[in-house]
Amino acid sequence: MAGVEYNAVVTQKLDVASGLMILRIAAKGWQLPAFKAGQYTVLGLLGLAPRAALTDPEDSPADPNKLIRRAYSVASSSVENEYIEFFITLVRSGALTPRLFALKPGDPIWLSPKMVGMFTMDRVPPNQNIVLIATGTGLAPYMSMLRTHLPEMQNANVAVIHGARHSWDLGYRAELATMQRLVPRFAYLPIVSKPEEEPFPWKGYTGFINDLWDSPDIEKAIGFKPTPEHTHVFLCGNPLMIEAMLKTLGGQGWTEQTPQTPGNIHLEKFW
Ligand SMILES: Cc1cc2nc3c(=O)[nH]c(=O)nc-3n(C[C@H](O)[C@H](O)[C@H](O)COP(=O)(O)OP(=O)(O)OC[C@H]3O[C@@H](n4cnc5c(N)ncnc54)[C@H](O)[C@@H]3O)c2cc1C
Repeated sequence: MAGVEYNAVVTQKLDVASGLMILRIAAKGWQLPAFKAGQYTVLGLLGLAPRAALTDPEDSPADPNKLIRRAYSVASSSVENEYIEFFITLVRSGALTPRLFALKPGDPIWLSPKMVGMFTMDRVPPNQNIVLIATGTGLAPYMSMLRTHLPEMQNANVAVIHGARHSWDLGYRAELATMQRLVPRFAYLPIVSKPEEEPFPWKGYTGFINDLWDSPDIEKAIGFKPTPEHTHVFLCGNPLMIEAMLKTLGGQGWTEQTPQTPGNIHLEKFW
């Protein structure tokens, strides 16, 4: 195994939709490190691990003894230390995800013992409203933030805007809808971009997040008017959505947070 030992085990695999899963992993014989909600870690499997059925063959065969590693945002709460949860989409031609999708409970995997990243709520001042915007599995770090911090976030408005192609790709929908019912200042806004493919008419918002953001509907949809003075915006997932939102928000007075400079846009690009 070229000096690398699998150090963790899959405890649960939940199929959300075709090519979309929630994976829970437990450390084997060691303690999961403390982490901040919003951070990510790295998963790895050897090239000899089988690829899931119906995925594309690799252009050139992977080195069987080399660990293929990729970053994944943690979706579980940072107060949970029994397992760590991930929300993962299948890239059919990819190197690692076809192997991750072939896993089943009990299978071994490599999990980095380091949790890293600046995409956390650390630099949001108290009492600022927060809008968490994601496409697809970009929702993962927000699930960790909400599962960890929502009980303390009652002094401001918090909204999640989650874009996906179809309603069945809206992972965690039931949990987020329940949070909305139970928490007075929390809003959950799912948007689908291909409503014409729904087998049952979709009654919610449709189209792309950046178009909705610019429409008068946004205030009604999330229950407050987002302004740069009072609102921090988080962006995660597809780089095209992030670029479009950065342009829109920049024109409205928001500024990007960087390691050196404070700002009220926080972003994490998945590729
Ligand atoms: C900080 C960070 C956190 C991440 N967290 C997550 C996460 O929580 N869930 C998750 O599914 N992925 C996440 N990713 C992406 C992940 O690291 C891999 O890139 C992805 O799983 C594809 O790996 P692969 O080896 O199968 O594909 P590769 O062979 O590496 O092919 C990469 C290509 O796959 C496509 N791609 C990558 N990620 C996605 C995605 N999420 N949705 C659609 N297409 C994609 C892009 O076209 C990219 O160029 C994260 C990436 C970063 C940098």
